[in-house]
Order: sequence, then structure tokens, then C-alpha cells
Amino acid sequence: MSLFDDHFASKNAASARAWAMDNDKNGDRKGKRHEPAAPKMGICDKCHKEALVRSFRTRQTDMGDGAASFGTVVKYYCEDCAPKSRAQKDAEVPQLTSKQVKNLMKSAKKGLL
Ligand SMILES: [Zn+2]
Repeated sequence: MSLFDDHFASKNAASARAWAMDNDKNGDRKGKRHEPAAPKMGICDKCHKEALVRSFRTRQTDMGDGAASFGTVVKYYCEDCAPKSRAQKDAEVPQLTSKQVKNLMKSAKKGLL
């Protein structure tokens, strides 16, 4: 009885190990896919200069022959032409003009009186 139990347990452990190894492999593949593209020498798609370029995936919608087609296009941009990330865009806070500031002060004073 105990022999059978041991055999069963070790077989189970082996298949569990195999399963874990398969999972590790999948995890590795996923990790690589999400790695940011490393810059490499190429021609920039925007300024057409030879420079260190990075690949950017852009979603494109084309209207042709009355039908819309959707696709992902990979473009290569140099550091100068690389599209800014959303975080960088958000960091650019628009400055108030002096006129806008005066208006704000006026309305603030009105509120006080
Ligand atoms: Zn460029």
C-alpha cells in the first residue's frame, strides 16, 4: 500500500515539475515580447535620416474602396522624431496668459465683495 502511495506521489511531483517548467517557458516568452525595442541603426520614417531608430507600433485606420481597414503599422523613428509618451505630454502644463490671470483675479475679487 505504502509502495503504491510513494510511486503515485513521485509521479505526481514529476508531472507538477514538468508543468511548472512549461509555465516558466511561457513566462519567458511573454516577458521578451513586452521588452522595449532596442535602438538600432536605420532610416527614420519621418526625417529620412540615417540614425539610431526605435520601432513604434501605430494603429492605423485606412478608408479605401468604401471599406475601413484596421491594422498595426510599425514605424521607425529617430530620437528626435520619436512620438512622445502620454506621460511626457501630460507633463506639458499649459501656461496661463497674463490676461487669463487678470481675469481670474477679477472674478476672485468679485467673489469677495
Ligand atoms: Zn527622424
